[in-house]
Amino acid sequence: GLVPHKGCCLGCHQDPNSMAGEPRHVVILGGGVSGLAAAHYCQTEFGDAVKVTLLEASNTFGGWCQTEPRVSACPAAFLERGPRSFRAANGDPTFRLVHELGMEEELMPANRSMCGSRFVFLGGRLVRLGLVSALRYIGIINIVREMFVPKRTHSEDEDESVDAWAHRRFGGGLATLLSAMLTGVYAGDSATLSVQSVLPILVQYERDYGSLVLGGLWSMCSGLVSGVISRLTAVLQQLMGRPPTPVAAVDRFVAHCKRQTLAYSFRRGIGCLAQRLAERVRTAGGADLLLNCKATHLELPGPGPGPVLVHAQDRDHNPLSFQADHVISTLPAYALAEVLDRSVLAAAPHTVLADCSAALWSIPFQSVAVVGLCLRSPEGCPVLPEHQGFGYLIPQTEGQPILGTLMESLTFPSAQPKEITRLTVMMKPPGPINNRTWPHEQPLDHLISLVHGAMHKHLGLCFAKGQSAAGMSFSVLWTQILLHNHCIPQYT
Ligand SMILES: Cc1cc2nc3c(=O)[nH]c(=O)nc-3n(C[C@H](O)[C@H](O)[C@H](O)COP(=O)(O)OP(=O)(O)OC[C@H]3O[C@@H](n4cnc5c(N)ncnc54)[C@H](O)[C@@H]3O)c2cc1C
Repeated sequence: GLVPHKGCCLGCHQDPNSMAGEPRHVVILGGGVSGLAAAHYCQTEFGDAVKVTLLEASNTFGGWCQTEPRVSACPAAFLERGPRSFRAANGDPTFRLVHELGMEEELMPANRSMCGSRFVFLGGRLVRLGLVSALRYIGIINIVREMFVPKRTHSEDEDESVDAWAHRRFGGGLATLLSAMLTGVYAGDSATLSVQSVLPILVQYERDYGSLVLGGLWSMCSGLVSGVISRLTAVLQQLMGRPPTPVAAVDRFVAHCKRQTLAYSFRRGIGCLAQRLAERVRTAGGADLLLNCKATHLELPGPGPGPVLVHAQDRDHNPLSFQADHVISTLPAYALAEVLDRSVLAAAPHTVLADCSAALWSIPFQSVAVVGLCLRSPEGCPVLPEHQGFGYLIPQTEGQPILGTLMESLTFPSAQPKEITRLTVMMKPPGPINNRTWPHEQPLDHLISLVHGAMHKHLGLCFAKGQSAAGMSFSVLWTQILLHNHCIPQYT
């Protein structure tokens, strides 16, 4: 989700609330959406009891959560650098944040039917993925059989890849579908991603119920029962003339958002969430948000409580330092590992830090290209109606040059005029993940021709002729390519 919880806290361990007198100094490393959210929640939870300093290495806040400036030829269309939407089902923390920031009007609901219409590229064609087609693809016999597959206990030392887990319990059908799904979330390979790390619910159901099917049935039934009980309680309260339990405005807002549709974005792009967070933290007072300020190393006093000295440098490499009671890191794993490595060198040897940094370095990161296509077609979207929806994902086994395509203008029709179609294609560098980056001189023409080839094959859009399989003509308003290195962690 967009309000991550991955930050790790270094330094002394007292509750800032419990400390009388001087405000506690919290230094936050990283000004992406996690760092900004951490600063915001420090302020709202602890008020004057804390002073926050946030250090961001780049010249802008938001990290991956940024919207590229609108292209002047087409003012209604923009390109998201990283995230472009979030799911309503697990969006509670994001909705609450939106409410706290007064951004309710900026929230942009997805078209429900388009959002529910998702495809997988299987056997050389797009297949709409509904519950029935998914069950059929997995195989009813495999689903029944899964309830009798002996359970296996997972531990930190005994892990399994998602692909191996799916093959062991259900066979190849589910393995292929999960491969497509993880392409969408991690741009990763289900044969290497750890099932415990990326889909812990599968492991939890196997451990607790002996089977995913039994666990799923059990939680469905208990959900139904608790729904019925809460309805009955409300009806009884009404019959007895008792006023209904008051619901806070924020809870009403969250419930409304979750009922309304399946996914959301923001009218001016998702980057506005990070920008608004930064504004709010600044105006709330008691916080310094520093751009162009790169954390370099920490001086820790020792294993016990005590202040931490955070060293950083500004744009001109001038050294800066901050004495912190608490340090919250929201840096990507490799950036924190670099900081910890230097910390070990700067201070006395500290095995805990060395172990942490080794663990952080061991997390590979995937590089991704985001290719934005903006098409104009006076007759509307040139994609065949039967292929219109949220987009499609491609399992590794299909051997395609792209990971998948998002049909953003169909998902968010209010973001641009009807004649504009926005598609976003995701790609990764060829070969295994292995921390591969895009070559310095990556020929962009080559990427564009791969994308055009894929669009022709998958969606029937012929860019050479400006004609679609639906018989519509279209022109390309702009193509924008963003090459991101080391942007998505792979928990293998
Ligand atoms: C292409 C792409 C598509 C995505 N799509 C979605 C989506 O659709 N939905 C969704 O929910 N999520 C999506 N995500 C994931 C989402 O973007 C991330 O989970 C989220 O943005 C992470 O935010 P963060 O603040 O934790 O980290 P980051 O955004 O990585 O921020 C870390 C910050 O730390 C700064 N930094 C680094 N080193 C230092 C240092 N030494 N000192 C100080 N600062 C430093 C960086 O400059 C950066 O600003 C996507 C990600 C990518 C890359």
